[in-house]
Amino acid sequence: MYHDLPRDASFWSFLRAVDDDLAAETRKKGCSCGGRLHAANYLRKPRGTPAQLPEPLRLRLSFCCDRDGCRKRTTPRSVRFLGRKVYLGAIIILISAMRQGPTPRRVRELSERFSADESTIARWQIFWRQHFPQTHFWKVARAGFVTLGKIVSLPYSLVDAFLRGHPPCQGWMLLLRFLSPITVPGGLQIKVLQ
Ligand SMILES: [Zn+2]
Repeated sequence: MYHDLPRDASFWSFLRAVDDDLAAETRKKGCSCGGRLHAANYLRKPRGTPAQLPEPLRLRLSFCCDRDGCRKRTTPRSVRFLGRKVYLGAIIILISAMRQGPTPRRVRELSERFSADESTIARWQIFWRQHFPQTHFWKVARAGFVTLGKIVSLPYSLVDAFLRGHPPCQGWMLLLRFLSPITVPGGLQIKVLQ
């Protein structure tokens, strides 16, 4: 059954390693002004983690331009953090998907297990149902989904498509990597059709 996150710590270390790669790509490109990027990471306190994550795994990788007069911050894509949300991306996806699955789990059970209250879970449902489908990212990405299967409900259909037939660790990594463009500032921008 894929309706769970891998529990061992190596999964979270593995996601951090993917983030390191994504950050290295960003750093190589440099700042839009032509300046060089310096590390300017910051610690986050994600909630609802299976076990308290050690500090290196809670670090949001980020950069600052080294040029005076610019100093712009550049934050790379991430497979761990979804925007400004205080829960890890994987948890937000998992709980939302569990609510929609063939056997939706009771909200109380979910909120206790991940210490997310009912109103938080309700907000995530609105995010997947109303905001996410309107994003530029999804409007482009869904075209590639024709081959993966029918998108019945988000994010359940995504979890189903990526985790079916893969070992959980790999399936989750592929899904989180797929969604990583929405983890940067502006990545959730809603496309307004003229
Ligand atoms: Zn710059």
